[in-house]
Amino acid sequence: KSGFASIIGRPNVGKSTLMNKIIGQKIAIMSDKPQTTRNKIQSVYTDKDFQIVFLDTPGIHKPKNKLGEYMVKVATDTLNEVDVVLFVVDDSKDIGPGDRRIIESLRKVKTPVVLVINKIDKISKEELITLIEKYSKEEVFDEIVPISALKEGNLNSLINVIKKYL
Ligand code: GDP
Ligand code: MG
Repeated sequence: KSGFASIIGRPNVGKSTLMNKIIGQKIAIMSDKPQTTRNKIQSVYTDKDFQIVFLDTPGIHKPKNKLGEYMVKVATDTLNEVDVVLFVVDDSKDIGPGDRRIIESLRKVKTPVVLVINKIDKISKEELITLIEKYSKEEVFDEIVPISALKEGNLNSLINVIKKYL
């Protein structure tokens, strides 16, 4: 069994850390290159009976002009070509404008979307529950998985969730 996953999210939410921890090597740094190619292979996670190919898809940015609008369209089209989208957010108490923009774009994506709430080592259980409730109301996520990429918390659950969609 194998399939394709794309990790998206605002800068600094922990996408590279997550990928590095899953793969176990410092190879996700290359993801910060300018977005020129579609669906470039970023890293491959291989286990006994399955394989997850993580793809470096173009990010969704605030469009500043017609070209920017086109880039957002390319980004959302690209997300339709993978098996599962991992949308990473951090422990921010509210859904900010950057995340809001991505959520609105994700409504047009047919691929299953897993919301990954990262940095849960920084918040209380109560705060996490409140955050999960806020995101659930958006009705765009097929699953919500809280993790701590840095502390390697709950990464196995995330991998099991990804497996379901491959
Ligand atoms: P990216 O821009 O989305 O790729 O984010 P990075 O992976 O570069 O992480 C941005 C910052 O957040 C770094 O300083 C990481 O060490 C930190 N970070 C990432 N994951 C976690 C986490 O689970 N908990 C905490 N406390 N910090 C994290
Ligand atoms: Mg990064």
